[in-house]
Parts: sequence; structure tokens; C-alpha cells
Amino acid sequence: MSNGNRGSLADKIEEIVSQTLKEIDRASALAELQSIEISCLGRKGHLTGILRTLGSLDPQERPWIGKLANQGKERIKERLRLRQVELEHKELRKELAKETIDITLPGRPVRRGVKNIITSVVEEITEIFVGLGYRVAEGPDVELDYYNFEALNMPPDHPARSLWDTLYVTDKVLLRTHTSPVQIRYMEEHEPPIYIIAPGKVYRRDYDISHAPMFHQIEGLAVDKNISMADLKGTLEAFTRAVFGPEARIRFRPSYFPFTEPSAEVDVSCVICGGKGCRVCSDSGWLEILGAGMVDSNLYKYVGYDPEEVSGFAFGMGVDRIAMLKYGISDIRLFFENDLRFLEQFR
Ligand SMILES: [Zn+2]
Repeated sequence: MSNGNRGSLADKIEEIVSQTLKEIDRASALAELQSIEISCLGRKGHLTGILRTLGSLDPQERPWIGKLANQGKERIKERLRLRQVELEHKELRKELAKETIDITLPGRPVRRGVKNIITSVVEEITEIFVGLGYRVAEGPDVELDYYNFEALNMPPDHPARSLWDTLYVTDKVLLRTHTSPVQIRYMEEHEPPIYIIAPGKVYRRDYDISHAPMFHQIEGLAVDKNISMADLKGTLEAFTRAVFGPEARIRFRPSYFPFTEPSAEVDVSCVICGGKGCRVCSDSGWLEILGAGMVDSNLYKYVGYDPEEVSGFAFGMGVDRIAMLKYGISDIRLFFENDLRFLEQFR
């Protein structure tokens, strides 16, 4: 090959190299890179063809043309390698994007349920008494007449039975009208000292804005040595302050229950007016929240305790009424009618 071809061969190499580098940069898929490599560096590739002709070159030209071609080959190989890595990443990202959730799409909101306000109030009251050292006890909703009435000092035909509008299942089986039967069941199986609360559903034939056929009570019972009325009062004061706030005061009014002696209705200072008098408290400044008293010693004989040895107090409260007072709700039926607009307010 003459000197005249020297320049044009070098130009040709430069052109092949720069053209190939551009093609590599433009390649958008791994398959494309492969065909570029073959058409340039393959057995019949452009650059391979030139390298093959080196042998026929003038010995003086051969080294530097050879060097030029080999450098070009190395640049192309290097660029191929880099572009391959880039394209592999790109294809991997594409694969991943296909398989993953598009987090830019607006989400579908999950409707989260809320606890019924009654459940929350039961839990709150339970926690207060657990904090005072009480244990939680439970009994059946479908109860024997014996536990609901007889062992609570109301033998058959006792007039006090009419205080409850009882729903009977059979002569001897009924839906419990109060949580007090749990007292008897628990004392039968445990020895004093006893400090329990028994939350649960109770049933009566009743339905208006302040009465529902099913409602919730929490029963409390403490039996130990030397328990007095002062212990009862102190316990209920601690309880009312925890539920209604530190300003809450209580008062006892003499009352009657067959299973406590003496018995009292317990009022809390009106949570609406603070005791000044308003529509909710009928201008009295007081709200009735629970019934309580000293356990009638006659009950101990049903459970095998010695009335000379132990004494105790009991109390029972309507959870629904406490929830109504605490949250200013005027109709008890709202708790059970499943109107979400009402129930979701207590989130
Ligand atoms: Zn009031």
C-alpha cells in the first residue's frame, strides 16, 4: 500500500471508531449492542477487516496504523461495556416497575371501625377499679332464678322481685336483670378477701329514651375483715373523681335493696352545671349514678361465709347512664341503633 493511502486508512479507522461509538450511545437495548459489536469487531466486522490488512502495509506504517486500530478497538470495547451496564440497569428498572404497585396512584381509604362508646366506658371504669386492686369477674347472661333472686335475699313470691321487669326463659331460668348474681357465683367459689367488679349486659322489659331492654351494668363487691360504710364511700369517691373529674362530689341517700343493708342511692354532683342546677339534673344539682350498700349478712349463709368474721359492701351502676352523663347524650337508644354518624363521633 502506498504512502498516499496512509492518511485515508487512518481516517477510515477514525471514522469507523467514532461512528461505532455514536451507535453504541444511541443503542436502547442489549440486543442492539450485540449487533453493533458484531458488525464492528466480529469476524466480518469493519474494524476486524482493517486489522487483517495490516500485514500488507508498508513495514514503516504498520506499527502506528496497527496501534491506531487497536486503540480504537479498545475504546469501542470499553464503551460497549459501559453501555451494557447502563442498559441492564434500565431494563431491570423497567421489569421492577411492571411488578410493583404504583405508589403514585391515590389510595383507597380503609374504613376503620371504632369501639362502641359503651365498650370504651366499660373499659375505662374497669381500669379504674383494677387500679384500686379489684379483679374482673363474669357470669352468664342467661341466669338461674336462684342466683338472680333467691340467693340475693329474694325467695319466691318476695315482693321486691317486682322491682325488675324480668324476661323469663322458663320458670327457673331468666335473662339476668342485674349483674348482682355474679356476687353469689364468685363468693361460692372463692374465700374472702374478695375485691371484684363484674361488668356485663342485663335485660329488662323496658324501652324508652332512658330505658333499653338490654343495657350494661358494672357490679362491685368487696368482702373482707372490718369493711365499713366509710370504705364504700371512699371507694366511690375515688371512682367518681376518676370518671367525672376532680371537682365531682357524691352524696348518699337512704334507699332499699333486698341484698344490702343499709342501702343507699349514690348521686354525683351534676356534670353539666357543676351543682348549680340545670335541666339535666332537674335543678337539683345532683345526678343519680349508682346503688350501693353493705352486703346483707343473710347473703353469707348462701355461700358459706361466717357473718361474724367478714363484712362487705356492694355497688351497681348503669354504664349506659354514666356514658350519657359523661358525653351529654340524651337518648339511650342511640348506643344500640348502629347509626355510624353517632357512633363515629367517639373515635
Ligand atoms: Zn345540672
